[in-house]
Amino acid sequence: PVLPGPRPDWLKIKVPAPEVVAEVEALVRSNRLVTVCEEARCPNLHECWGIHRTATFMLLGDVCTRHCGFCNVGKGRPGEVDPGEPQRVAEAVASLGLAFAVVTSVNRDDLPDGGAAHFAATIRWIRTLVPACGVEVLIPDFSGSEACLATVLEAAPQVLNHNVETVERLYKRVRPDADYGQSLRVLAGAARHRDAAAPDLRVKSGIMVGLGETPEEVLELMGHWRAASVDIATLGQYLPPSALHLPLERYVEPAEFEMYRRKGLEMGFQRVESGPLVRSSYHAQDSYQG
Ligand code: SF4
Ligand code: SF4
Repeated sequence: PVLPGPRPDWLKIKVPAPEVVAEVEALVRSNRLVTVCEEARCPNLHECWGIHRTATFMLLGDVCTRHCGFCNVGKGRPGEVDPGEPQRVAEAVASLGLAFAVVTSVNRDDLPDGGAAHFAATIRWIRTLVPACGVEVLIPDFSGSEACLATVLEAAPQVLNHNVETVERLYKRVRPDADYGQSLRVLAGAARHRDAAAPDLRVKSGIMVGLGETPEEVLELMGHWRAASVDIATLGQYLPPSALHLPLERYVEPAEFEMYRRKGLEMGFQRVESGPLVRSSYHAQDSYQG
């Protein structure tokens, strides 16, 4: 079975605001943009689009060169890079009047720079068209390239986010094309940049739980994050997008999420978003404000 039972009450979704969601949808469509909110079938879509008016834009197409078993993004050979996309994302951010924008991408292992320059251009376009808007970039690992990471950091995002997604033991099954240690090195590299040149930068990472990890493994991972000097952690419940995706092992109880939050604050994280419906970009605007 994909699910260990019916969804518990704490995973039921609240108050949709259909008109606003329709407005965002129309804008996304007419600008030929892609959002993670839709691709990932995120349970917070109505809250984020309808209430907070935030969205997570996905650059560089909707086809990924990697094969994470939890992910609903199409896999295969991606199309050409669209050089007009950074500007169109910024125009959409302006039209929506966003105070905070999250920008991510599929993995583009086919591109020499993994898409780093495209991220940097998007940050700069948003900065130009909407100077007051904060930007969080949720980046791939760029296969460990420090030069690619530097390209993104030089464009001065407010938040540099890179998800490790799960504990090290489950990598082969969950993120077969990725490397746990490499992802931690990306985060540590961003933290070094923060300490050397960008004191206001926040370094952020997240995981999903319910894939078979133990609480001890989650706490160990949180220790690795702190060792890499990560500022902000997000922990949320994995929900399989379909029966073809990795099966769910268990629903993590709210009390366990609260335990992670409490322990995380004791470990020294500035902020820990931990709860069943938490997603990487959930309440992203708050992590920016501290
Ligand atoms: Fe989109 Fe992130 Fe909000 Fe989900 S949590 S709807 S992906 S902005
Ligand atoms: Fe999905 Fe990202 Fe994995 Fe690609 S790298 S399959 S977009 S989670």
